[in-house]
Parts: sequence; C-alpha cells; structure tokens
Amino acid sequence: MSKIALFPGSFDPITNGHVDIVQRAVHLFDKIIIGVGQNANKKYMFSRKERIGFIEKAFEGVEEIEVMQFEGLTVDFCKKIGAQFILRGLRNPADFEFEKAIAQANRMMDHELETVFLLTDPEFAAISSSIVRDVHRNGGDASIFVPVPIG
Ligand code: ADP
Repeated sequence: MSKIALFPGSFDPITNGHVDIVQRAVHLFDKIIIGVGQNANKKYMFSRKERIGFIEKAFEGVEEIEVMQFEGLTVDFCKKIGAQFILRGLRNPADFEFEKAIAQANRMMDHELETVFLLTDPEFAAISSSIVRDVHRNGGDASIFVPVPIG
C-alpha cells in the first residue's frame, strides 16, 4: 500500500518554512497531498485560488506532490483521499502544545491515522504566514520568506 500523507494548512501564503517541511517529507512518503483549508469563519489575505496557485508554482513538476482544497474535518478528508498520515511542522513549544491536542483528538476520531511531525530547520523557525502577511500588507519585501512572488 502506498504511503500517502496529507499536509493540511491555511497556507496564507505558503512560506519557505512550509516548503522545507514538504521537501524533507517527500523522502518519507510515496505521495504528499497539500490540503489547502477553507474555513468559513476565517479571514484570509489571499483567496483560495491564489493560495493554491502559489503552492502549485512552488512544486511545479514534482510528481509526488499534489495540491487539493478541503473543507470540514481533517480526518474526514484523510479518509476521502486515502491518506494514512497527517504531516505537520513544529517551530516551538507553542506549536507543540497546539499540535499535540489536535493530533490526539484526530487519533481518537480515527485510530489508524498517525500524525508525523518534522522539526523546523532553524533557518526557517522564525517564519510564519502571519509575519509574511504583515510585511506584505505594510509594503515590505516579503520575497525572502516565500518560494514564489506573492504580488
Ligand atoms: P494552520 O492554519 O493549519 O496552522 P499554516 O499554514 O499556518 O496552517 O501551517 C501549516 C503547518 O505548517 C503547521 O503544522 C505549521 O506548524 C507548519 N509551519 C508553518 N510555518 C512553519 C515553519 N516556518 N517551519 C516549519 N513548519 C511550519
């Protein structure tokens, strides 16, 4: 059975930190599906189409990586696409506490699902989509944080 991992997130926008996690995880799985979440209660800076477009461009020509949009529970989406793993990145203790609760809840909902965490490379530890949005919103050059131009 091929090993499929879902990397879920907002990716508003995708950063070099996200890219690093995916590039390292590519060696662990047969396929990685980057799931771009859409939450009706969440305000995004970039539209779903833009967020997906940035990711597709960042991984252009990489066969093992696919981009999909999703709404609703991550566990339900994993079932739908046949993913046995959820991939997440950890930058700091706050990420760990937050991710731990979600991973444990997901496992209670689906015992066959494993969340796999990769620690951020120190080079990318300070990068977050929210910092990128702040820099971009205020006219700064966000290109040092992202894999493709965000306009
Ligand atoms: P969410 O809204 O689900 O947190 P994000 O797009 O912010 O979505 O993040 C998706 C995943 O990528 C999360 O697991 C997050 O911890 C991880 N991540 C974000 N930035 C980095 C980074 N700089 N290094 C490593 N992992 C990161």
